[in-house]
Amino acid sequence: MEALNTGHGTEIFRLTPARCNIFIVRRNSRSIMVDSGISFDRHRIEHALERKGIIPEAVVLTHTHFDHAGNAAWLAHEYGAEIVVQEDEKESLAEGDTPIPKGTYHFTKSLVSLGEKIAPVFKYEPCKADHVFTDTFDLDRFGISGYIIHTPGHSPGGATIIIDDSIAIAGDSIIGTIPGSPFPPFADDEGQLIRSWKKIIDTGCHTLLPGHGKPVSRETIINEYSKRSRTQ
Ligand SMILES: [Zn+2]
Repeated sequence: MEALNTGHGTEIFRLTPARCNIFIVRRNSRSIMVDSGISFDRHRIEHALERKGIIPEAVVLTHTHFDHAGNAAWLAHEYGAEIVVQEDEKESLAEGDTPIPKGTYHFTKSLVSLGEKIAPVFKYEPCKADHVFTDTFDLDRFGISGYIIHTPGHSPGGATIIIDDSIAIAGDSIIGTIPGSPFPPFADDEGQLIRSWKKIIDTGCHTLLPGHGKPVSRETIINEYSKRSRTQ
């Protein structure tokens, strides 16, 4: 993925290829990281930060599944990054244990029943949050012109980061691995997720960056939303 520029002095880029998308949001040489990746990607992340000369002031978690929150404790310890999480997943993060969601398609439903049998694999290093929010959180304090909104559905504490009112980093609320199919293969509550999509659409963002895969356009989300909101 090319680095994106909001036109208002903020740059957003993927840190390094990894199991989940880890984004850096940078403005006037201050940076935050969105999601921390899975623990086995730690060396790759460390090298990328070093190579690019980035010291993240904060790590914002779009949610706390093991593949997104696996390095949060390490980043806090190693770089002094402040950890931001939505209230409803603060405890899962503190325990390093977030339940895996239900499958939303036939094939992912059977994957989940397999996953439940190997659940300990999904645990990660416990991490204490520095900032916990309920509905919204302003990123001003880190020098970033943006805010976070609560977008539950994939998981209870789902969060979407809105940068310069134009780019949304949506975690697993949106998926970019299958072109034209942005609905995630796993979700705790599909109806709630659809309502969260409405919130994301209402921000006016034109580009949506998912937790896995490539950027998704506003039009793609609006089309899928109008289909799904009729059947929910
Ligand atoms: Zn997830």
